[in-house]
Amino acid sequence: MIPDAFRLDGKVALVTGASAGIGAAIALALAQAGADVACHGNTRSPQQACEGVETQGRAALGLTGDLADRATPLRLVEQTLARFGQIDILVNNAGTIRRTPAADYSDDDWDAVLEVNLGSVFRLSRAVGQHLMGRESGGKILNIASLLSFQGGITVPAYAASKGGVAQLTKALANEWAAKNINENAIAPGYIKTDNTLALQQNETRNRQILERIPAARWGEAHDLAGAAVGLCSPASDDVHGHVLLVDGGWLGR
Ligand code: NAP
Repeated sequence: MIPDAFRLDGKVALVTGASAGIGAAIALALAQAGADVACHGNTRSPQQACEGVETQGRAALGLTGDLADRATPLRLVEQTLARFGQIDILVNNAGTIRRTPAADYSDDDWDAVLEVNLGSVFRLSRAVGQHLMGRESGGKILNIASLLSFQGGITVPAYAASKGGVAQLTKALANEWAAKNINENAIAPGYIKTDNTLALQQNETRNRQILERIPAARWGEAHDLAGAAVGLCSPASDDVHGHVLLVDGGWLGR
């Protein structure tokens, strides 16, 4: 039955950047669908996300670590495996944005954004991919891309480069791993009300311009991503590989 194809009972998910915003909403949605969830945060505790998972009757594990540090991805995977013994779903959601005109963009900002948004996505996917390849049932890897996987943006060159890279990495890994029952896909959110977009929400002119251009005429909410995320992490999407799904209120079609 089709509702069963969206169930995640008995699955274990690792969600990065679950201390807030989109990651917290996805962690909760995966738990509602039946998964146990390891919730990661960096400067903020993932405690609230863990409590949300537990209110669904699922087991939670709180993890912390800076994904600008190359050692963090493997540690997160090892800690999740030590607690649950398996990982079936990886959601690469953690991401950062630093705004400066390109001519003044510092090497430090470039390196940090590329490592958090792209390098760590590769390192986490590689570690979980190795785990998933060792078994027949495979698994799901979901990356959080962006409208700037397709568009260049302004004063966010590292973010645009990293998110363009996320879309390409999604396809590259899907090509290698689809035959091993590993689905690698991405969601490209539009303008979502989170801390990440606070500066835009609070800028009266930019806020108006953004709303005028979105066909749905509203900002997205973090929970707007939940249905697409559960679908792409569940058996319902077993033949979907290398896809970047827009959840953007219609922005890119305009
Ligand atoms: P958010 O509320 O600011 O959450 C970002 C998450 O990423 C937080 O959990 C944060 O952890 C984590 N993070 C940031 N830097 C990190 C680092 N160095 N190491 C480890 N974790 C780090 O923003 P959000 O909007 O939910 O963003 C989630 C994802 O969606 C990001 O990949 C973002 O690029 C993408 N996205 C967002 C929008 C939007 O409109 N909001 C649009 C397109 C794409 P701490 O807070 O604990 O430090």
